[in-house]
Amino acid sequence: MAINFKEKIRVIPDFPEPGILFKDITTLLKDGPAYKAALDALLAYAREKNAELVVGPEARGFVIGAPLAYALGVGFVPVRKKGKLPAETVETSYNLEYGKDVLAMHKDAVKPGQRVLIADDLLATGGTISATISLVEQLGGRVVGCAFLIELTYLKGRERLAGYDIFSLVQY
Ligand code: 5GP
Repeated sequence: MAINFKEKIRVIPDFPEPGILFKDITTLLKDGPAYKAALDALLAYAREKNAELVVGPEARGFVIGAPLAYALGVGFVPVRKKGKLPAETVETSYNLEYGKDVLAMHKDAVKPGQRVLIADDLLATGGTISATISLVEQLGGRVVGCAFLIELTYLKGRERLAGYDIFSLVQY
């Protein structure tokens, strides 16, 4: 029987701030058949795009991106907050609701022309993924698709990422 993924995602009101309905994916992750089925759906998309490398932002992007890379037999590249990666990095700053943050990726992580799939748990405003795309493109990588478990359509991340191919398993 097909899995109802929305039933597996726990919604927590007022986290991390009043008024936010946080989508908690830990309830899906701990359910083996649901986690596998969700990854299989994203994997089918990644295969269609002929991805040669998967890039994921910390921390939940690792939980989605690394198993996809393993299943595809391609490499995985972590994007981290500035100051966490040990070798030379490219960096980009992006706006948060309050203030700014800087994301970083190793300078030798992506080869020019490489077909890159970006993976994360959730697309909201698209700020995190715009910054991740910018890092990949600074190194000459070609973003062939972006894969998410969840898309919050009312935050219009897809519009912000216009021109890029987006796939999401579940929409709110
Ligand atoms: P954006 O940059 O698109 O506004 O926000 C997406 C990022 O914030 C993702 O990396 C995601 O992990 C995190 N995020 C924002 N809201 C939620 C949420 O409700 N649930 C989860 N699991 N992550 C969220």
